[in-house]
Amino acid sequence: MMQGTVFDIQRMSLHDGPGIRTTVFLKGCPLHCPWCHNPESHRAAPELGFDAALCIGCGDCAEACPAGCHRFADGEHCIDRTRCTRCGRCVKACTGALELIGRRCTVEEVLRQVRRDIPFYQTSGGGITLSGGEPLMQPDFAHAILSAAQAEGMHTCLETTGYAPPDVLRRVAPVTDLFLYDCKETEPVRHLAWTGVHNDRIVENLFLLDRLGAAIILRCPIIPGYNDREDHLRGIAALAGQLSHVQAIHIEPYNRFGESKSRRIGRIYPLDGLAVPDERTVAGWIDTVRAHTDTPVSKN
Ligand code: SF4
Ligand code: SF4
Repeated sequence: MMQGTVFDIQRMSLHDGPGIRTTVFLKGCPLHCPWCHNPESHRAAPELGFDAALCIGCGDCAEACPAGCHRFADGEHCIDRTRCTRCGRCVKACTGALELIGRRCTVEEVLRQVRRDIPFYQTSGGGITLSGGEPLMQPDFAHAILSAAQAEGMHTCLETTGYAPPDVLRRVAPVTDLFLYDCKETEPVRHLAWTGVHNDRIVENLFLLDRLGAAIILRCPIIPGYNDREDHLRGIAALAGQLSHVQAIHIEPYNRFGESKSRRIGRIYPLDGLAVPDERTVAGWIDTVRAHTDTPVSKN
């Protein structure tokens, strides 16, 4: 039976496509954007999460761990993650401060969760959204979920960076009712510097989907000091203008959700101290894009 690695399933999502949706987050991502609000998605394998605020210092984890990862020094709980084999024994011993992020699931297990809210999808025009990470890092699993959900009459969305082999995009296009396609940076050198990958493949795949007639919403994270430049905002509009099936452009203002999540998995948050933009700033970004396109532009 086909399995994949899922790190979260969120019911009642309102920002991952039309209507009320269940969003299934698949683990693994080929990009590493510093502003990522799901840093726990980056690694393909499960990893250990720790919330210091929930730790009562009982030391049961240290006793349970066969690899000696947990140490207590000067009242501080230190975890040596380089030795962690993700066996999960400390998680079982703990009262709630530890968790394994990411677990293997079958397609049917995912669908069982998703089916619970079918009445809400029907009344709101919602459905299922696959997100991540990059769901297409697990192409067979993503395809199997989307095709099964679509066959059961659910509306299917795929949130993607677009960084995948073209054949994978071709394969999922018929079972995806709407692509939520990231547009992170239109200037290639900056794109490579910030995300770690070239954007030529991403742009080529976007044009490929457009030629296939796929419905597309461009999702554009705007990060102060990174891509809040006028040339990028105009570039988003220009990109949409070259495509026939872009229904809307969604501006996604920087948020700090990635900060506490980074701490939880023992990583340093790269944008520490960066302020969230105010409403006026965001409205200015939207106005700039709107001034150069007929495609509807809004904040997501
Ligand atoms: S998951 Fe296993 S190896 Fe990793 S810290 Fe917990 S008990 Fe130790
Ligand atoms: S078992 Fe859990 S609560 Fe106890 S010390 Fe370890 S992390 Fe903290």
